[in-house]
Amino acid sequence: MKILVINCGSSSLKYQLLDMEGEKLLAKGLCERIGIDGHLSHKPQNGKPVFDEDVAMPTHTEAIAAVLDKLTSAEYGVVASMDEIGAVGHRVVHGGEKFAESVRINDDVMDAIAECIPLAPLHNPANITGIEACKAVMGDVPQVAVFDTAFHQSMPGKAFMYAIPYEYYSDLKVRRYGFHGTSHRYVSKRAAEMLGKPIEELKLISCHMGNGSSICAINGGKSVDTSMGFTPIAGLPMGTRCGDIDVSILEYLAANTGKDVKELTNILNKKSGVLGVSGVSSDFRDLDNAAADGNDRAALALDMFHYAVAKTVGSYVAAMNGVDGIIFTAGIGENSASTRAAICEYLTYLGIEICPECNAKRGEDIVISTADSKVKVMVIPTNEELVIARDTKALVEG
Ligand code: ADP
Repeated sequence: MKILVINCGSSSLKYQLLDMEGEKLLAKGLCERIGIDGHLSHKPQNGKPVFDEDVAMPTHTEAIAAVLDKLTSAEYGVVASMDEIGAVGHRVVHGGEKFAESVRINDDVMDAIAECIPLAPLHNPANITGIEACKAVMGDVPQVAVFDTAFHQSMPGKAFMYAIPYEYYSDLKVRRYGFHGTSHRYVSKRAAEMLGKPIEELKLISCHMGNGSSICAINGGKSVDTSMGFTPIAGLPMGTRCGDIDVSILEYLAANTGKDVKELTNILNKKSGVLGVSGVSSDFRDLDNAAADGNDRAALALDMFHYAVAKTVGSYVAAMNGVDGIIFTAGIGENSASTRAAICEYLTYLGIEICPECNAKRGEDIVISTADSKVKVMVIPTNEELVIARDTKALVEG
């Protein structure tokens, strides 16, 4: 079965077409500036040329139509016709408390995704638009929703509750949801395979470190705690997000800057994190370069990030009363040997020893701790699209 995986944003749409026989990537690409003008970059994996041009995309429906046109075209295509695509899997950001697993999409599911819009006002409407656009262009092809939040629905109350009046949870659904669940699920499963043990017997900590970063404690294959919260601003300091801060800072800043809560929240989301502290960049490569050139604030921002990751990992060791393996993944986790080394320096109390030659490698699933290390440390490139495609196949095949 061939499966189209869609990750739809408000003005963008990322896609991959996978052949589930051998889990082979056939093509991938990106539609940008949907609703503005439109641009498609399409990369077939069969040696055919890349298509990278402006294409009119007044709505997501034209974007999907353009993607299907390229996937099936003689010049850029990888399949003979749309009929070869057996199903579509969508990344959906928020499933609230309704969805602890992926689900085949029907009208009730669409209503439930819409009910979660207040919890993810920027993301869920875009995801709904993507599903509707596929329906408009592809008709009755089965569609599946895979939620960022679903994996974390196994967290116990003591981990997901905030210590605020209970009715804010029961009436308004204010609680920790956590995100990046598809990634944490994928890398933890891979880690168990690499360690040669059933996941049910393992205590793992997964560090997804990219533009957005979150850490997840996974006990026996289930998420038991995670650092992002009600929204993805919580937890670690990130590229531009502040992570955990004292909530009273908001009132204090409102009183002293004349900005309202909405403006300040925007600053905490988009102008904070390592960008806000360094004044240099949200990109860790730029920070590494600036710190090497003697920029103290860039060095401070990096130190703060390493420290926050190490503290969170330590707290999850306590939460699970132990840890067998620690996983690094996503843009920073997969690529930055210096970040991994700096974090692991805090963790020698766990008996962790890093092998510098292994830590210098890139682009493969690898154990970077020494044979003697008491806790195994792994780098596992994440693959959320593959998880979406696998879930889609499993649900469609029943
Ligand atoms: P997203 O959350 O948008 O999916 P990614 O997981 O792709 O983000 O991560 C992007 C981030 O990865 C970049 O902002 C950059 O900071 C970081 N990154 C990528 N390559 C490197 C590298 N070689 N060294 C340090 N950081 C890197």
